[in-house]
Amino acid sequence: MALQSGVIFGQPEQQQDILNTMQTHKKSEIQETLKNKTIRSLELSNRLHSTLDLDKLFEIYNQESKTTVLFDSMSYSHPSDAFTFKTGNRKRHSCQYRLLMGGQNLGEVEFTRSKKFTEPETIKIEYLLSSLLNPLHNSLLYKQAVLNSQIDPLTNVNNRTAFDSSLSREISLAKRHNNNFAMIILDIDKFKNINDSHGHLFGDCVLRDVAGCINKNVRDSDMVFRYGGEEFVILLSNTEEDGAYQLAERIRTSIEKMTCRYGEISTNVTVSQGIGCMKKDEHETALFDRADKALYKAKDSGRNRTILAK
Ligand code: GH3
Ligand code: MG
Ligand code: MG
Repeated sequence: MALQSGVIFGQPEQQQDILNTMQTHKKSEIQETLKNKTIRSLELSNRLHSTLDLDKLFEIYNQESKTTVLFDSMSYSHPSDAFTFKTGNRKRHSCQYRLLMGGQNLGEVEFTRSKKFTEPETIKIEYLLSSLLNPLHNSLLYKQAVLNSQIDPLTNVNNRTAFDSSLSREISLAKRHNNNFAMIILDIDKFKNINDSHGHLFGDCVLRDVAGCINKNVRDSDMVFRYGGEEFVILLSNTEEDGAYQLAERIRTSIEKMTCRYGEISTNVTVSQGIGCMKKDEHETALFDRADKALYKAKDSGRNRTILAK
């Protein structure tokens, strides 16, 4: 396999360096290419700046690049694998670039095709890639900001904002595919006593430990939310009553066995849970209401237990 690789920097003077390192007889050809491409690159830049959505950004970039250099596949991967984009089938010859902006690694882009890329073609690719840097940086910042706005900073699980949108989305998906859907509402028992006895900082540690324990017991596809105060909700797609009950009991017993320690202080906590399994055509608020009533029943019948909603 023939591989060409390089680094694309966010500073314009670095692009000029590419030109300065060329052999003299190729300079005029490339300079002409660059002149035309500067206009293309500005147009492309305008189009890329029209979106903050990463998928749309790479769709635009892919379409526009294809009109400049022929290639069979293009892929992008973020250093943390938080986002990837792939189009076409990978072929023998490739050119790869690491995208750097102000010392920050924005990820890697690869183009492949059956025929080797020529030098003028790689110059065109590099020029177009330089148009991608700023819009990509903005889209990555936006994605991170959206993610941050949906995470509870204390426990690191999804917050109430994320819950509201996720519940509607998951329920409509379950209805469309005729899948089971279940919800567990979990509330820490007598949590006020823990705060009163050991202070709010200790209470915060207990909240973090409980969230960690829930996370350890759920599957990747289950979604955990801090609904408010000392209440958590777990959304279970494709899960029927038995499965939801078994999971809730596994969580309850794990929390019961766990000792929360902070400095010299340690304590044990228990939780009560209500489970609602979606009925045919049930609205999300009705499902939540049934699970919540089951939780109150669990509290009323002595706490540290799980009750399935009728
Ligand atoms: P029950 O078994 O009936 O649920 O009793 P409880 O004491 O857990 O319930 P209650 O609603 O009376 O008290 C909840 C407490 O949770 C009161 C509130 O101060 C505390 N709380 C809510 N959010 C936080 C938080 O972020 N950190 C800490 N440390 N405490 C919190
Ligand atoms: Mg509560
Ligand atoms: Mg409570």
